[in-house]
Formats: sequence, structure tokens, C-alpha cells
Amino acid sequence: EFGFSPISINTWIKPLQVQRYDSDEGTLFIYVPIDEMGINEDFINSYINKKFTTPLRSTIAELTGLDCTKIVYTVEQNVVKEADSSSNTDNSFNNILEKANLNPEYTFENFVVGSNNKFAHAASLAVAESPGEIYNPLFLYGGVGLGKTHLMHSIAHFILENNPQTRVLYVTSESFTNELIEAIRNGNNTAMTKFREKYRNIDVLLIDDIQFIIGKESTQEEFFHTFNDLHGAKKQIIISSDKPPKEIATLEGRLKSRFEWGLIADISSPDYETRMAILRKKEERDSKEKGYHLDDEVIQYIATNIKSNIRELEGALNRITAMSSLEHREITVELAQEALKDMISPNAKREITPDLILLTVAEHFHIKTDDIKGSKRSADIVIPRQIAMYLCREMTSTPLKAIGKLMGNRDHTTVLHGVEKISKEIETSDDLKNTIDIIKKKLNPN
Ligand code: ADP
Ligand code: MG
Repeated sequence: EFGFSPISINTWIKPLQVQRYDSDEGTLFIYVPIDEMGINEDFINSYINKKFTTPLRSTIAELTGLDCTKIVYTVEQNVVKEADSSSNTDNSFNNILEKANLNPEYTFENFVVGSNNKFAHAASLAVAESPGEIYNPLFLYGGVGLGKTHLMHSIAHFILENNPQTRVLYVTSESFTNELIEAIRNGNNTAMTKFREKYRNIDVLLIDDIQFIIGKESTQEEFFHTFNDLHGAKKQIIISSDKPPKEIATLEGRLKSRFEWGLIADISSPDYETRMAILRKKEERDSKEKGYHLDDEVIQYIATNIKSNIRELEGALNRITAMSSLEHREITVELAQEALKDMISPNAKREITPDLILLTVAEHFHIKTDDIKGSKRSADIVIPRQIAMYLCREMTSTPLKAIGKLMGNRDHTTVLHGVEKISKEIETSDDLKNTIDIIKKKLNPN
């Protein structure tokens, strides 16, 4: 850790591309895309070289154990092609990129723990705290966009922070496969030896989306040996997949059983509370940098309507903030509706939550949710308030106490009273019954 901020890493480090490593001289060639970065050649010497060479060298040494005595910056991209075809290309350097690619945002600090990921989170932290000692392998599985990669990077960050000497290798199973194919294609023993050295000479292997190596026989075979070597040497292995091992049809039996040696933890879809918490956390972090603010109503609107996964949740937030800043408009529920209209299909079944009920009732009576939560006692507020209580009771399984809390910290007996009053009045008042039916339709259009 050299204390560079994420913005600094994004600006100066991310665009850099490793081209070639000359192992005889220990020289690493790095391509600097100056046009893309908006800088000139002088800038490389006066700034990048001065500021980043030492940290880069030690980071590379830490991550890979390779000693590069010299870093040469170049502005010629064609060197890449030359290097690619030359036998000097050291494939393991694809990995420096991978490793430098640990997303600085994907840390435990930025991971919101909810009922959907509690166990996976606890298991990940335990493994990060004592790699190789308790659960080996750790197998994380779950659908897309639910946080598997985020958790894996968090483990890698945590281990490297606590012990920078640890050799941590994070790869997608796709790049594992590609590197293996490349090594095989080279057709000589050195290429294979190098590949093996790279994967056996580490303390922690994180392999993401293992489902991609499945069905590729030679890759499974090679991975089997890698697994055995590392596991036998008590090195930590962390695997992610979209399914649990026993449901991966084309996974070889011997790998299946090995994956079950350690601990298997799943991540499921986030519930409403977790979606709210994730949005709030994201707002908290982004709003300083980007200068926006989201009202609770907007957050509730997003959390109510975007349910499939967390990546979509973030996408929704980005759309809203982008629209707001491009059109210089304040962020309101209406703007959110507009921004998300393609993401929210009108037929999609939405989950009915107390927050949604509150929003819908307020909208129906043209009042504010704060009025419902507030202390006004006039009939034009009291009736909607009681209707909201009634609907929460009827359409959700929220306990009276929690409904009271949501409705401005009211006592559960107050809620009960409201619910009973509306239930009774419905029997005699067609008007009220009608109103409630309309609100129900708004809540549940299907
Ligand atoms: P997966 O690998 O399972 O497809 P990712 O780890 O790429 O999912 O997560 C998708 C996005 O959602 C990422 O931007 C990630 O930071 C974010 N994310 C996922 N889970 C959480 C969480 N529990 N808290 C905060 N952000 C999360
Ligand atoms: Mg992923």
C-alpha cells in the first residue's frame, strides 16, 4: 500500500499496459498510451517515472516474486505486437495486469452485509484472516451480479494488506484457460513449465467463475493438478461459480468432490432492506465525489423496482445521476421513473413493501409520505395514514410494531386501531372500498 487514491490509480496506473518482460536483464516494458491519457512524453519522465516506478516495482515483486530492476516506459504501441510474437514474452505478465486489476473499490469495507450474503461474507473474512488454515477450498456460488467477484477481491485486498509478502493470484477461469492454451500452443516444455511455476508458486489462488473451465477437458485436468499441489501444500484456494459443485453437470467427479472438501457458501438475491442499504452506502460514498443527493423516496423507488441483482441496482443509480446532471434536473421520483423506464418492465412483478405502500398511498392522495409519518391530525392526513396501515397489514407480513415504526414511530396499538377502523368502514362505505381497491391496483397492476 502506497496510499494512492483510487482516482490517482485510475488516472495513472490503469491505462498503463505491460508489454514485455526481459528476464535476462530484469527489465519490464510498459506502454503508456499518452494520447488516451491526455499527456505528452515529457510528462512520463517528470511525473510517472518519478512517482510510480518504485511502487510499481515493489508491487510487482510482491505479487509475482519477479524482480524487475528496471522499468522502461514506451509510447510505441507496436512494440506489443513485436513482443507478443517474440519468444521473450513472459506470459506470467498477463497476470500482473490481472493482479493490478484488483478493483480498489471491492473491499470488505465497501461490502454491505445482508441476509442474502451473511454467511458468504463471514466465510470470506475468516479465510482472509487465516488463509490456508480453516476452510480450503472456499467455494462461493451465486447468480450474476450478486457480489462474488467483489468478495473475492476483498479477500485478496485483506490478505495483501495484512501481509504484503503473501503471493496472491486472482484470475478469472477464462484467463487461466487462455494462458494454458497459449502454453500448450507454444508446444515446448518451457512454456508449460512456466505456466505451472506461476500457478504453483503462490500462497493464495482465487479463481473466479470456474464454470468457464468446465467442459474443457485439458483445462480441468490441469486445474486438477494445480488444485492438488496447492491444497497439499496448505495454500488457500478460493473458487467462485454460478452453481454449487454438485449441480455442475460437466464437472468431473474428482474435482466435484475436491470442491466439497472445504466450505461452500452461497449468495442469493438481496432482499428489500439489503437493496436499500446498498443504495444508501453507494450514495454516501459517491455523493461526496459527484455531488448529488438522493431523497429516501428515490432510494425506495429504486429498491422497490430493481430487484434482480446488485449490478443492475448500481446501473439504475448511475442512469438517474447521469440524467440529472446532463439535464440539470433535480433528482425526484419522476426523474427516476423516466430514467429507469427501460429497466422496469411494466409487467414485472414487483415486491410489495411497506415503503411502496407508503409511497403509493401518498401519491394517491397527493400528500407527502412525511405527512403520513408526521403528527398532523386532520382528516385529509389521518385517513390516508390509516389506509396505509391497513394495507401494510393486509398485503405484507410486516409486524404491527414495524409498521408503527415506519409510520412515524407510532405505537403498535395505534396501528391496530387504524387497521381495525378501516376494516370496519370498508364494510359500510363503498367509497372507501373503491379507493382501497384502486390503491391496491396501483400497487399490484397484474
Ligand atoms: P458477481 O461477481 O457475483 O457477478 P460482482 O461482485 O461483480 O458480482 O458485483 C456486481 C456489483 O455489485 C459490483 O459493482 C459490486 O461492487 C456490487 N456489489 C455486490 N454485492 C455488494 C454488496 N453486498 N455491497 C455492496 N456492493 C455490492
Ligand atoms: Mg463476477
